[in-house]
Amino acid sequence: MAYTSSVLVVGAGIGGLCAAIALRQRGMDVDIVELQPRISVYGVGIIQHGNVIREMERLGLLQRYLDRAFAFDDVGQYSASGELLRRIPVQRLAGEQFPASVGISRLALHNVLVQAARESGAKLRLGLSVDAFTESAHDIEVSFSDGGSQQYELVVGADGVHSKVRRLLFGNAYQTRLTGQSVWRHNFARLPEVDHLSSYAGPSGNAGLCPLAADLMYMYLTSQESDNARPRRENLPQMFRNRLLPFGGLIARLREQIVDPDEIVYRALEVILLPAPWYRGRVLLIGDAAHTTTPHLGQGAGMAIEDGVVLAELLAQGGPIGSSLAEFMRRRFARCKFIVENSILMGEWEMQLRSEADRFALATQMLEVTAQPI
Ligand SMILES: Cc1cc2nc3c(=O)[nH]c(=O)nc-3n(C[C@H](O)[C@H](O)[C@H](O)COP(=O)(O)OP(=O)(O)OC[C@H]3O[C@@H](n4cnc5c(N)ncnc54)[C@H](O)[C@@H]3O)c2cc1C
Repeated sequence: MAYTSSVLVVGAGIGGLCAAIALRQRGMDVDIVELQPRISVYGVGIIQHGNVIREMERLGLLQRYLDRAFAFDDVGQYSASGELLRRIPVQRLAGEQFPASVGISRLALHNVLVQAARESGAKLRLGLSVDAFTESAHDIEVSFSDGGSQQYELVVGADGVHSKVRRLLFGNAYQTRLTGQSVWRHNFARLPEVDHLSSYAGPSGNAGLCPLAADLMYMYLTSQESDNARPRRENLPQMFRNRLLPFGGLIARLREQIVDPDEIVYRALEVILLPAPWYRGRVLLIGDAAHTTTPHLGQGAGMAIEDGVVLAELLAQGGPIGSSLAEFMRRRFARCKFIVENSILMGEWEMQLRSEADRFALATQMLEVTAQPI
């Protein structure tokens, strides 16, 4: 039986690091190259549900991950004025002793994953990318941006929404698309009542509060933006506050604290879903490189993490690499497509003021789908 023993992962983001950890667990040699010269992450916090907690346990990271996160068991839906409408329970997929969902700061998550990848024996090289691939029957030669080259049996492109590996594989055949919504985010000291993810349905976008640690939480807002140009930095606080005016309750209480442009993370949402297959020869795309979703269902990173775990499991079974990658697509495509398409739909419903009941049903369906084994 043919075993894949050497893998290059391009991109040390959430998906690439989890793939590297999972591949090392199965005994494969793993190099990771990361474009950034330093480990740094944009953004504030991230919401992760039961399916991610289940995979963190499989990766052997659950306790250190939970130690850095804020756990909760349900999602609250609120009116714009701040009235609680309902709480949606989330299943405890990793076992009754573990929480259903968490909020975690992106930096804390990254630190856990980078440390685990290094401990696993994966070799992480910073400030480096790939320039070209030359494939032969038994391996693939990778030319790096520093002029070096090396042979591997598989290359995993985990280099995110603007993936270079995707361009090297498919040229300009696939482009990301802006959805018309943007997301505004800001950290605050956690208020005691923010002990679960709370989502506030506004007139043309949702606001929300998510706990990230005992002393930290973040606020997010989706807004419809007709102009895709990035706002001027100094205008960000006023623009964010203006868009929060329709909200009451805790959101209104926090609004006036938004004054420093450097504390605001603004991002126009863009999406892409590649048709199957996400590979050519010995190069496979995973995570946002293959399927970038909007954050509406809180599952983009979850899908990237699951990709890495499934890939490692299939490669460890041996057999021709083409068969493993075909099986990977069979296991991953429909699930990721469901998340991307329904996250986009949720954003469209926000923009069209579609009823709360529909959004509740879709969030519940997402939890049921992602509870299924991967
Ligand atoms: C506003 C917003 C909120 C979100 N909230 C959530 C949430 O609450 N829950 C959730 O599950 N998901 C959320 N997501 C989605 C989540 O952030 C992504 O799905 C996830 O980060 C994808 O992981 P990845 O590893 O595929 O890509 P990334 O995390 O983007 O990592 C890609 C890595 O590749 C590196 N790289 C790029 N180009 C190269 C290159 N040429 N060579 C080498 N390295 C390269 C980058 O520097 C980066 O380190 C959100 C997304 C957005 C935009």
